[in-house]
Amino acid sequence: MERGKFKRTPEMNRRMSVIMKNRVMSLEHKSKLKLFKKGESGFKGRKHSEKSKKLNSESNLGINNPFYGKQHTKEVKKIISEAQKRTEHKKGKDSPNWRENKKSKLKLQIRYSEKYKKWRLSIFKRDNFTCQICKKKRIPLNVDHLKPFAKIIKENNIDNLEKALNCEELWNTVNARTLCIDCHRKTENFGNSKLNR
Ligand SMILES: [Zn+2]
Repeated sequence: MERGKFKRTPEMNRRMSVIMKNRVMSLEHKSKLKLFKKGESGFKGRKHSEKSKKLNSESNLGINNPFYGKQHTKEVKKIISEAQKRTEHKKGKDSPNWRENKKSKLKLQIRYSEKYKKWRLSIFKRDNFTCQICKKKRIPLNVDHLKPFAKIIKENNIDNLEKALNCEELWNTVNARTLCIDCHRKTENFGNSKLNR
């Protein structure tokens, strides 16, 4: 059928829109895309014109798609399932990010704890909301740990919030001072722990 001469009936339009709504990119399509990106398809090095891109995308939708209503062969299914296995991410303790995530999660838990907020405010009050280096009252103010927060956590084997809340060294106000953000950035420990901010 020549393109452009065919008119859809309202009934067909309705069916098409249902099909379009339920359409997801098939796995076969995805794996073909992957091959294409790798340059293994026969189309390597060539480019579709804007017009042909549009025609391609229109002609392969729903009932116009040659794959519509068909099923994958066993062979294709095997290829797809192997491709999926490769992309599956390692989860939990197998993930290289797991330990780091756990550590930063604990830091956030501490930071958002009531105890931390009160403790931080008590440092500000003690220092009269004044930077202990430049003596300016600047906003925003930070609490700087003379001994890095991360070091205290490590040395006291703190691995959960409860241990953190009960760790005396962590909440020792002698170990903390008020700094403005500029002076804080200049300290050696800045960046070691976002908790200091
Ligand atoms: Zn300052």
